[in-house]
Amino acid sequence: MSNRIHRLDPLTTNKIAAGEVVDRPASVIKELIENSIDAGASSLVIEVRDAGKDYIRISDNGIGIHAADVEMAFERHATSKISKIEDLDHIYSLGFRGEALASIASVSHLEIITKMETAAMGIQLEMHGSKVINKKEIGCPTGTTIIVKNLFYNTPARYKFMKSNNVESSHIIDLISKLALAHPEVAFKLINNGNIVFSSSGTGNTLYAIASIYGKNHAKNMLYIEKQEEGLGLEAYISKPEMYRGNRQQQVVFVNGRLVKSKIITAAIDEAYHTLLPINKFAICFLYLRIPPQEIDINIHPTKTDIKFTNESFVKKFILSVLREKLLSETLIPQMSLSTKKEEKKEQINFLDRPLISQEFTASKKAHDSFIREAANPYIKETKVEIKENKCIEPIKKEYDNSQEEAYVPDKQVILHPNLLDIKIIGQVFLTYLIGEDLQQMYLIDQHAAHEKILYEKMLRDYKTQKIFSQKLLVPIVLELSPSEFETLKDNQAALEQLGFEIDGFGNNSLLVRSVPLYYGEPLTKGFFMEILEALQKETNVSNHNFRIEKIISAACKEAIKANDKLYKPEMKMLMQQLAALENPFTCPHGRPIIVSMSKNEIERKFKRT
Ligand code: ADP
Ligand code: MG
Repeated sequence: MSNRIHRLDPLTTNKIAAGEVVDRPASVIKELIENSIDAGASSLVIEVRDAGKDYIRISDNGIGIHAADVEMAFERHATSKISKIEDLDHIYSLGFRGEALASIASVSHLEIITKMETAAMGIQLEMHGSKVINKKEIGCPTGTTIIVKNLFYNTPARYKFMKSNNVESSHIIDLISKLALAHPEVAFKLINNGNIVFSSSGTGNTLYAIASIYGKNHAKNMLYIEKQEEGLGLEAYISKPEMYRGNRQQQVVFVNGRLVKSKIITAAIDEAYHTLLPINKFAICFLYLRIPPQEIDINIHPTKTDIKFTNESFVKKFILSVLREKLLSETLIPQMSLSTKKEEKKEQINFLDRPLISQEFTASKKAHDSFIREAANPYIKETKVEIKENKCIEPIKKEYDNSQEEAYVPDKQVILHPNLLDIKIIGQVFLTYLIGEDLQQMYLIDQHAAHEKILYEKMLRDYKTQKIFSQKLLVPIVLELSPSEFETLKDNQAALEQLGFEIDGFGNNSLLVRSVPLYYGEPLTKGFFMEILEALQKETNVSNHNFRIEKIISAACKEAIKANDKLYKPEMKMLMQQLAALENPFTCPHGRPIIVSMSKNEIERKFKRT
């Protein structure tokens, strides 16, 4: 190679550009479908063979391309959608770069047949790697058909990067499903190796589209949201907390009709469902955001799925608050069912998700008794702390503080869910669940999840109102940590201190816990801090201080409350009252349900009484 500089020929530049725009059959299909939709198509047929590697055909009934422009459509930067830079601020079309057709044509054998309504005849053009090899007039309906054969035939490196047919097909199906959701007004039909995989009706109804793609049951279990605020509009279908997935594949976001990826929106969804879903589970959400085009910059990546908002925090706040409000306003008691095998399996999985119970229940019994007493009367004060054994303190002894007695009005507690007080508690099963009834339903309440949630909300409230008190341990707890655990704790020292933990004596990777929040009547073990540490180490959203605080509190509550406690009637009643006062009494901080119900009807059906 000489050292002289020369210009690359258009064939080569197109191939290089193609690497950015099209990297697999699904991305070719995406570009072609978006072109069809920009052309006003109401019906699309997509046919693929061998996962699109050999053959892709997209036929639309859009406006078609003018006979004189057909060849130009395959030049780079040739577009009908913008003429000048200012147009970008008002763009509503899906494409505008004028790159897709040029790129796709440069790496395939491509054929286009197109006709505008006013033209008598259509045009058929064939190209091999951007070179026109055939062009003629042809009789055809209005609209455009593009056939892409032998994708990447002249770029072996690209070709090799394609995955197995299974993988590429699943990308294609996933993509077309999402595009069909983005455009419920367009009828999509996907044919794979001669079989119809999927077809949507194009009625314009989003819920129908969801049902035709993900099934009727899915569609039935979604909550609908519509909200307008300061130029932003949100329409969304979001899952009730009892329905979730192990990944984010069914979180689909459209901004001005365009399928996008946005970390900001993903974070808003996560926060909205925070504590409502089990750990590592994800909500199903179909979000349609409308925003003035000048408020977004979609120009940051050629494939245009990453989106940037001018005012990120405003968008995030808007979505978070709308979702959260909806989730909390719904009655979120899941229905129990005794029926199918599948559900039993699900139950089992939920059960395995539970924390393993590691401590003797008698010890925890005391903790939670004192917790209940304390919650019953907020004016209890600490009187005596004794040393018992090594590194442990005696559970705090408390007695009434008479000076405050008169001020104490228990009924002042705001009851946010009065219907929970209508549940008559009948008893306890397995020392773990309360069983209750009202006129129409039978209820099971997981007492430990309930305690955990009550303690969680109390700690969070106390933190927010700066009312957390801590107690000094007479003998500090010594923690020996790995270097990474040590780092994590040090990073979170400030947050921990705000919550009433006093941590000290860093050095040699060991540290001393000198004080703990007043909530804990029991000597805290090393396991307790390990739980908090683990929660913090998993945390990626460390920049968000409140999120961090919530993580610590929820880990702390989980460890504070243990299973297998006998409760007496007054304690059960008290528990229900405390639950009814919570903002969300239906799921624990880790997102598991606290209350499940079964209707009288369903029970009667089980006994074949109806
Ligand atoms: P862009 O979509 O960014 O404008 P493309 O390379 O994807 O660039 O397409 C170039 C032009 O070809 C488009 O601007 C449009 O005018 C025309 N075109 C492409 N596909 C179609 C289609 N299916 N129906 C009508 N016109 C089309
Ligand atoms: Mg395009």
